[in-house]
This record gives sequence, C-alpha cells and structure tokens, in this order.
Amino acid sequence: MMDVKKIYMDANALLEGHFKLSSGNHSQFYLQSAKVLENPRTAKLLAKALAEQIQASGIKIDTVCAPALGGLIAGYALAEALDVRYIFAERVEGVMSIRRGFEVSQGEKVLICEDIITTAGSALEAASVVESLGGEIVAFAALANRGFCKRQGSDTPQKENCKLPKDMPFFALADFTFEMYAPEACPLCVNGSIAIKPGSRGN
Ligand code: ZN
Repeated sequence: MMDVKKIYMDANALLEGHFKLSSGNHSQFYLQSAKVLENPRTAKLLAKALAEQIQASGIKIDTVCAPALGGLIAGYALAEALDVRYIFAERVEGVMSIRRGFEVSQGEKVLICEDIITTAGSALEAASVVESLGGEIVAFAALANRGFCKRQGSDTPQKENCKLPKDMPFFALADFTFEMYAPEACPLCVNGSIAIKPGSRGN
C-alpha cells in the first residue's frame, strides 16, 4: 500500500506547523496540493494508483474533465493513466465554462477530477457544465480528500457540507482530515505560538 501522506510530506505538500487558513481558522496542518505534482514522476505515480482504483470499480470512462486551475495537472495525469480523453473547465467571469473548442458528446461518460476535494464545489460546477452539454457524470476523483466527502473504501463518513451527490462514486488516494480551530479556541495559540499564513512567503 502506497504511503500517500508520506509522499505529500516529502514533497512539502503537507506542512506541519501553525497556520492561519483563508477561512480565518487556525490549523496544525496545511495542504499545498500543487507541490506534490511538482515532480512529474510523483504525479504519474499518484495518478496511476488512482487509476487502478477506478479501473477496479469497473466504471466505464470516456473522458476526464478537470476544473481549472487546481485540477489541471491531476486531471491530465489521471487521463493519461486511464488512457482516455482529457478536457478542462475554467471560470469565465466567475462562471464555470468549457471553452477552447472542447466538445462533449451526447451520453459521453465523464469523470470529474480534482487535485483535492474539500466540499467539492468547483467539481460540481464542472459536472453541471458537462451535463448541460449532454455528458453523463459517472464518478468524481481527487488525489487527496480533505475528509468532508466520503471516498470509496474509507470509513470516514460524509459531512454535511460535502456537496457531492451521495450515490455518486468518489475516488481518492487518502483522507487528509485535520482539526481547524477558531483563533480564540486554538490550542496552538494557547501554547504561545503565532499562526502564519501559508501564502505569506510568496506562494
Ligand atoms: Zn492558533
């Protein structure tokens, strides 16, 4: 079994410390998802493991679609591993759209792929666009699952804020569930440390 968390740690994609998240909450951990895909060999390795899970399920997939920007590399790597077509959706003035000449055929079986699924908001928006063009969404996938949605084979139950339909298969390599604290209730602050913004050094 592949140690996905170690791969993220080694790539500095899973940071441990004391972080101030964009929500304003504090956390001991921070996922910098893009970092794990910095090395194409690692990207390929992770995508292959994800593809094997999906293939084992027997679900037929014609195309992988990724919501830009976060899902671009993971989606491409997964499509390569599954040996299927790859397209992406992107926001145009805030609205998820499919452009650049990409077409979706009637009944085309599409899997939506992200680098990380949190509540799956962007993934669902991409799914809606694909459906509006006649595609059929057959599954969702992500390299990492933040632990709000229930991935296939995990005991971690689905939380209320997960937007994925309950009957839709969702594949991911690992659950990255970690506590978030309101600043006034943060045990790390109580210990005297100062929370840093992960993006504060120019990333
Ligand atoms: Zn704190």
